[in-house]
Amino acid sequence: MKLPAVAIAAAFCCGIALGLWAPVVHFGVSSSLLICGFALVFALIACGIAAVVAQRLVVSAVSAMFCWLLLGVLAAGIAKQPLPPDHILRLVEEHRIDLHSPLRWRGLLRDEPSVLPWGVAYDIDLIGVEAAGEFVPARGGLRLSYSLRPEQPAAPDLHAGDEISVLTQARRPQVFRNEGAFDRRAYLAAQNIELTASLRAASLLDLVRPWPVTAASLLARLRRRLREQLDKLFGDTPQVAGVLRAMLLGDRSFIDRDEAKDFQKTGVFHVLVLAGLHVGALAVVLFWAGRRMRLSPGWTILLILTSLALYIAVVEQRPPVLRAGLMAAAVVVGGFFYRRLELLNSAALAAILLLVARPPALRDSSFQLSFVAIGCIGGLALPWLARTAQPYARAMRGWRDVTRDAAHEPRAAQFRIDLRRSLHWISSKSPRRLGVSIENAFAAVLRLGFRSWELFVLTLVLQIGMLPLMARDFHRITLAGPLVNLIAVPLTGLIVPLGFIAVTSSLFVAAVGRLLSVPLQWLTVFILHSIAWFAHFPSASYRIPGPRTWLMLAFFVVAILLAFALRATARWQRRATPALTCALLVCTGLVAWFPFSPQWSPGKLEATILDVGQGDAIFVVSPQGQSLLIDGGGAFRGFPGHPEHGGTDPGEDAISPYLWSRGFQKIDVVALTHAHQDHLGGLTAILENFRVGRLWIGREAISPALARLEEFARAKHIPIEHERRGQTFSWSGTEAAFFWPGASSDEIASTAKNNDSLVFRLRYGNRTILLPGDAEKDAERTMLADDAGEELRADVLKVGHHGSKNSTMPDFLAAVRPQMAIISAGEENPYGHPSPALLARLQDAGVSVYRTDRDGAVRVVTDGESLTVSCFVACPALTTREALRQTQSPNDEQQHEQQ
Ligand SMILES: [Zn+2]
Ligand SMILES: [Zn+2]
Repeated sequence: MKLPAVAIAAAFCCGIALGLWAPVVHFGVSSSLLICGFALVFALIACGIAAVVAQRLVVSAVSAMFCWLLLGVLAAGIAKQPLPPDHILRLVEEHRIDLHSPLRWRGLLRDEPSVLPWGVAYDIDLIGVEAAGEFVPARGGLRLSYSLRPEQPAAPDLHAGDEISVLTQARRPQVFRNEGAFDRRAYLAAQNIELTASLRAASLLDLVRPWPVTAASLLARLRRRLREQLDKLFGDTPQVAGVLRAMLLGDRSFIDRDEAKDFQKTGVFHVLVLAGLHVGALAVVLFWAGRRMRLSPGWTILLILTSLALYIAVVEQRPPVLRAGLMAAAVVVGGFFYRRLELLNSAALAAILLLVARPPALRDSSFQLSFVAIGCIGGLALPWLARTAQPYARAMRGWRDVTRDAAHEPRAAQFRIDLRRSLHWISSKSPRRLGVSIENAFAAVLRLGFRSWELFVLTLVLQIGMLPLMARDFHRITLAGPLVNLIAVPLTGLIVPLGFIAVTSSLFVAAVGRLLSVPLQWLTVFILHSIAWFAHFPSASYRIPGPRTWLMLAFFVVAILLAFALRATARWQRRATPALTCALLVCTGLVAWFPFSPQWSPGKLEATILDVGQGDAIFVVSPQGQSLLIDGGGAFRGFPGHPEHGGTDPGEDAISPYLWSRGFQKIDVVALTHAHQDHLGGLTAILENFRVGRLWIGREAISPALARLEEFARAKHIPIEHERRGQTFSWSGTEAAFFWPGASSDEIASTAKNNDSLVFRLRYGNRTILLPGDAEKDAERTMLADDAGEELRADVLKVGHHGSKNSTMPDFLAAVRPQMAIISAGEENPYGHPSPALLARLQDAGVSVYRTDRDGAVRVVTDGESLTVSCFVACPALTTREALRQTQSPNDEQQHEQQ
């Protein structure tokens, strides 16, 4: 077997996958089960050894594979053991710590404080917390951030290893609980961060004990020095400093949102994520330097390994660099012993090591991306190049030397002969003095052509191979990718080593650093400009729903078969290559075009109140599949004074992934109830990511954000319509009537107001859903007065203004008489929504209440008679009174009314 490590890694991965996802081991692995498992492992090992002795190699290989498979299942089971009793999440779950009020937390600074564009962040390894007057030991990670405002004192100067105590209200990281949404909690938990908090004042953070000198704290200080040095070298070009921080040290916090989007659109975001490319570039330069210094192979390897280890220790966002570093180490060390180690084997070795250390890493999308990338290079691109272009590229070496022709395979030898003949012919036509130079120039151009072709094939194969994962995780297809990578990859290969030399040398001799920073700045500006230029083409990339699971499986099965065919020596196996390539291209096409229809319930009206934090977003699908999105959430726009940085965008992070998870690429109507940030903020992303038919707006208001949105819609040729009281629309049996804004809506309002919200009711069959936006008591009162309230009657009410006490007033509630009320509010929002007074009103009226801050997205489906509700987290159990109300059919109710 040529790829033993790959086979072992594959068996181990299958085992872990079984252990993580199969229901068999969902109850966790008990100790007796573990003993049985390991007994089986030993039996398999014994069986394997016996088979080797008996020279039954197939039997021994099979038992070895089963052994690794079983080890994978056991590893996953062990990793699934419950959290230790003093883990902070256990303490919160068991109500031993209450996160609803500020507490005094004690811990050690994990790293030097990270300087961010808007302030400072501290990662703290917790020691304990003071709760109810006693000290409770606790472990876990807390990320504390401090926004610097001009009037505030500077953050305390702390160092890695310092023991600190801080008074703050910590909370679980924000998540959007909708189908398809990015799980920020899991993402931060993978970095050992379980809680986040913000520091209100610098005086609330105290230093208990300064840092002891340890290797880790010294490395953290070195990391800080390098960061400061970069800022010093590029102080007058902050954009360049931000990009170099990312490319050299893995700190992307100074890349603003638009910049990051340009990198994503052109398929070169990987340049900003420290990984294989960066490690590879450094290793190549170190190898070259070792040769220049005439070091023996042993010393060269030592130089490369120590430098890589230092590099991994010094950068941030470590996992991808660690993976790449391990692979590079395996290649370098393996190369020393075996001359040429198969890339796939060294990658598999790295994967086994990482999975033994942390089996659930298999689930991490960044782990999958790394290994799929290396699999594409080692499994598809290199073998294909070895069969096609490489023999010719190699034939270019010493092409003048006739005696070396015989060392090449016949077609390459023929190529050398043709090359010599053609170049001689060209030189014979030119002045004699220049003849040799012209020959050399042509040969150099040809060599460059081969290198570019290899790079192009590599990036193209990578683009194709990574496509399903990119579509699943980032929902983006970049058409310009292979082209832009032709520029970005070689530039990264130059910038990374040059950057390191510049920064480290500036630590010792400032003048050298300054000198080297000049070409570094040119290169970085060039890469930024070329990316921005490619990104401005609208067709450079587009967004897409993630591929269906069956398609993903089919894609990777075909890719693996193709990898086998490319390596095969038997002729019939090689003949399968064109067919398999075609199959792979068909799968690629299906992923890239997504020709599947979206998922909806034919013949039923559905409305989903999405969890967008503090804000509103409601997705409605008619019985024939027409779609309507009301509002786009969006409460939080970046950090104070730095709207271009950080922050979450519910349009991009919650609503778009939800719609993609259901396969929607087109929305017939997007409606904005009123131009407040928590309704409008996410809509730009929606107009950008989906084909939108029309944009409905209630009353026009003077608001810069609304003006920007309208301008954006016009640029995308989306018609804008203003809806008002008295208008209606009908969609395949669904009738809708607008109740608000009223007569005054022809005038442009001076500001956006809750009481100008678009209010409308959907009716399908006997069931009705009322959607009042943020309308408050004034609007409610006028609506009631205008139509005596009978029109307002609805089975389902999306509660107005996030459950504020000034909305859904008693007389309005009495007119609507809903069975169920759904409140869209953010978890732990600062406004205290929903208000206890409102909750009491709803309870008194016997209305069953669903809340997005507790239940996640709430979906209501009706066939015109029955109503069904489902919640993303779990729907609350109904009280008897509510249950009784819900079992009544609408006709019963009407009878009830008549009595
Ligand atoms: Zn609102
Ligand atoms: Zn509002």
